[in-house]
Amino acid sequence: MATKPSIFSSPSRYVQGQNAINELGTYLKQLGTNPLLLADDTVWGLVEKPLTDGFESEDLPVNRIEFEGFATAKRVDDLVATIKEHDHDVVVGLGGGAAIDSAKAAGYEAGIRWASVPTAASSDAPTSTLSVINTDKGSFDEYRFFPRNPDLVLIDTQLVAGAPEQFLIAGIGDALATWVEARAAAKGNGTTMNGGHPTRAGAALAELCWDILWNDAFAALDAVRAGVVTPALDAVVEANTLLSGLGFESGGLAAAHAIHDGLSAAEQTHGLQHGQKVNIGTIAQLIMEGADTDELEDFIEFTTRVGLPTTLTEVGISPDDTDTLEEIAKAACTEDETIHNMPFPVEPHQVVEALQVLETTSRRVREERGLPEPKLYVAD
Ligand SMILES: [Zn+2]
Repeated sequence: MATKPSIFSSPSRYVQGQNAINELGTYLKQLGTNPLLLADDTVWGLVEKPLTDGFESEDLPVNRIEFEGFATAKRVDDLVATIKEHDHDVVVGLGGGAAIDSAKAAGYEAGIRWASVPTAASSDAPTSTLSVINTDKGSFDEYRFFPRNPDLVLIDTQLVAGAPEQFLIAGIGDALATWVEARAAAKGNGTTMNGGHPTRAGAALAELCWDILWNDAFAALDAVRAGVVTPALDAVVEANTLLSGLGFESGGLAAAHAIHDGLSAAEQTHGLQHGQKVNIGTIAQLIMEGADTDELEDFIEFTTRVGLPTTLTEVGISPDDTDTLEEIAKAACTEDETIHNMPFPVEPHQVVEALQVLETTSRRVREERGLPEPKLYVAD
């Protein structure tokens, strides 16, 4: 084949619902008979009772490893040894990114199935074919790519409703980028995380994700503040978790996530959530691509109201600090970065300029539209 193929991939099964955790055993039973569960104490406190009841009725043993801290190469190796020693046939990451990333990596290494059970809708990572591996101190170590998505992604919307609203807000920031990036990648016929060209399916799901968020984001946040599941929250959970995941992986990433990666290189942004940094990247991408003024300004207003950072000041970076901006731009433009999926050549100076204009544009839009002054977002 002379040209690269288009590739679409997805989890084998996606299950989302109120109290879905009760059914985890039923869906895992289709994958194996000796699961290994990874969860920290907080998450385990939330899920132990309903999960155990469900496992008992399916005759599944409950084996949980207390999993605190980061997904590191050493911990993945230890998990692989445990899996082999006890003949586990499916590994389940419950809760946040570290447990989920570790379960994927260990499941792949050990040659068994793996499942993601997120307890918040804070990013689209649970559905994807890759893990982020960190150092002991929590900084970025490497990406690991796997030939398959998880065999199961299960998300309980009641748990999402009970999680801090900051998680849902970050998930919205991550998911809003999906369509902006997929349409750029489609225009440039870029390369997706699957190693192929974007699919129309990926782009269509990314657009659906966008539409749902513009309709339902505020109502979903109201639901989380009340701790209840509503149709709006259900829709946003699907957008943040499934649609954003499929959209980025089979539709393509572009400048927004590359600028996120660049921002992550700056110490000031350590501890901020993925989706918060992605939102800065999305605004910068809209500026770089010469988006319609209305689209850009509406996006700034919308995401400011959602509670996402829309200025550099808010992520701890001074717009006058050109050294830092250049460092961010350089990291965003390395050879393997997704910024090169943009439908035009990108060089670091364009990123620096977009970030500088982002500050002045966002401040003007805030003033014209009666939005609050920028505040500093600090690590949770
Ligand atoms: Zn993302």
